[in-house]
Amino acid sequence: MEKLKEKIINEGRVREGNILKVDCFLNHQMDIKFLNEVGQEFRERFNGQKIDKILTIEASGIGIAAIASQYFDFAPVVFAKKTESLNLDKEVYESEVHSFTKKRTYKVRVGKQFLSEGENVLIIDDFLAMGCAAKGMIDIVKQSGANLVGIGIVIEKGFQEGRSVLEGMGARVESLAIIDRFEDNKVVFK
Ligand code: 5GP
Repeated sequence: MEKLKEKIINEGRVREGNILKVDCFLNHQMDIKFLNEVGQEFRERFNGQKIDKILTIEASGIGIAAIASQYFDFAPVVFAKKTESLNLDKEVYESEVHSFTKKRTYKVRVGKQFLSEGENVLIIDDFLAMGCAAKGMIDIVKQSGANLVGIGIVIEKGFQEGRSVLEGMGARVESLAIIDRFEDNKVVFK
């Protein structure tokens, strides 16, 4: 997606530890007009696929998935929660996610009533790095008996192993921009 690449080059910042900051348009301040185009692009990538639910993970995935939902006939967006909540029913699907950026492992949970056997699920997230967040969500989809249609990622760090992990699990991965490497604090795309 050319416009995404332009925004990454013009507004993104490369930080220590191979981290790309895109706080100004994606995961702190959100450029809603642009995210509408992101949503449309996801629809084009998964054109013709019936999507019953969009699954994402809090927090950054929620806004992106909610806007994308409009282009998938307003499919409900379910987000995996990272904190145990008294409000969350005891009946949950649960999986573990290791965050390399935050250097910790945490549990993610989805209430069982929100994902059902036979539903077609599209997973959406902001970044793909090692694939741990998406792997946790795939695990939850499998537990529910729903069908995984694919995984839509805004920015993939193509030099990390995420894609091969997810494709190794049989998942279709569609990323709107794939970063090949960081060079002198600049982004080089694939
Ligand atoms: P993974 O689980 O694939 O290793 O990493 C995915 C998650 O880590 C994303 O949901 C995102 O929150 C975070 N993440 C990984 N790499 C980056 C990065 O370069 N920049 C930002 N902003 N977040 C990242």
